[in-house]
Amino acid sequence: MNDIIIIGGGASGMMAAITAAREGKSVLILERLNRIGKKILVTGNGRCNVSNTNLKPEHFHSRSQKAIFGPIEAFDYGKTEAFFKELGIEPLIEGTKVYPRSEQANSVLDVLRMELEELEVDVLTEVKVVGLKNKKSVWEVEAESGEVYMAEKVIMATGGLANASLGCDGLGYEILKKLGHTVIPTYPILVHALSSSPYCKMMKGTKVKAVASAYVNGKCEREEFGEVLFTEDGLSGPAIFQISRNISCAHIQKKKAMVTLDLVPEQSYDEVVAMIYERIAAKPERSIELLLMGFLNKRVIVPVLKCADINSIHRNCDTLEYEEVEHLVKVLKGFPFETQGTRGYKYAQVTAGGISVDEIDLETMASLKAPHLYVTGEILDVDGDCGGYNLQWAWATGYIAGINCSK
Ligand SMILES: Cc1cc2nc3c(=O)[nH]c(=O)nc-3n(C[C@H](O)[C@H](O)[C@H](O)COP(=O)(O)OP(=O)(O)OC[C@H]3O[C@@H](n4cnc5c(N)ncnc54)[C@H](O)[C@@H]3O)c2cc1C
Repeated sequence: MNDIIIIGGGASGMMAAITAAREGKSVLILERLNRIGKKILVTGNGRCNVSNTNLKPEHFHSRSQKAIFGPIEAFDYGKTEAFFKELGIEPLIEGTKVYPRSEQANSVLDVLRMELEELEVDVLTEVKVVGLKNKKSVWEVEAESGEVYMAEKVIMATGGLANASLGCDGLGYEILKKLGHTVIPTYPILVHALSSSPYCKMMKGTKVKAVASAYVNGKCEREEFGEVLFTEDGLSGPAIFQISRNISCAHIQKKKAMVTLDLVPEQSYDEVVAMIYERIAAKPERSIELLLMGFLNKRVIVPVLKCADINSIHRNCDTLEYEEVEHLVKVLKGFPFETQGTRGYKYAQVTAGGISVDEIDLETMASLKAPHLYVTGEILDVDGDCGGYNLQWAWATGYIAGINCSK
């Protein structure tokens, strides 16, 4: 019998295992896939955005009113950097995003696996856990094969629903539900937004820098500046990923959600009007189609003109009526795209919602529903913005659970 069984060998499970083993505990990781940490390999487009130097409460979200920033304060960026440096990972900081200097996610996984080996943590792969029972202060962990593993303490680190091919199918929620926990409704986030707007198809493959805003039932809920990529079926790119939380949540609540793109965020509405008239005055004989050449990406110009209802784009630009210029500027400052939800869990990086943190002691990550049970990482109703915040949540909660279940 081990002191501690960790269910799920992902980011938070490995961190918990290393921490508990360093405290002298015998630890067993049970992982359903044929390898631990597979998801880490695909993070940050294979570069692993391991953390962020700008860890602030506004980057973490939950349906709970509880102060969810506590674990991040307890295991902050400094501690994360020190932990990885000790394992050999030098940080590469881009803006505030932190990557391994090798720019290889597999080096992050390699050092974690080497540390687990050095600490003699037992790892069993291809073990799918299906149930948990507490009998006379001993946890019985039931695998799908019928095998039962026993330990004094259990850490549940099975992740959410995002990217099921990487091991996460939500079974962890069911197991914890049976122990009395509540699952806050989940939805996929950090994901492409679906839009049937014909302009997405027209511009597919084109990237622009814009302020993307998420409007839910007509109210702007979030704005984000960054790259936006148009695709066959909608909108993608970092700015869209950040606001996808609002689009996805609106979709499950059957509310109307829309994305608008400010293609000229550096100028006010009036400045853009003035700029258009300056361009007309400079080259009055140019066609309307060419008016924005050199100012906007070529592939975006015609969709913008069409959306602004400007017809006959081959006439001279000095024939534009004032109302037409107004329509054009309105679209430049807020190109609208109705959305029909997102591409879903299959393509999402993270799951919002999950096990209610009201039922977790966030100072220890202990369950308030069952004794000697700890819960970490994405399975909890906490999600972070795009930019290393989700892995930071996994490292922090894994560390806290590892330390506290070793006491
Ligand atoms: C494509 C992609 C890119 C991402 N990029 C980044 C990034 O750059 N930066 C960032 O901060 N975050 C990123 N994320 C999010 C981040 O990877 C996760 O939030 C984080 O890995 C969650 O850690 P976790 O330990 O809670 O769960 P996971 O890392 O998902 O690990 C859970 C583990 O539990 C196992 N498991 C599940 N059920 C069972 C069961 N019943 N029995 C046994 N084992 C089970 C799974 O196989 C899995 O190995 C990305 C996610 C994806 C999908």
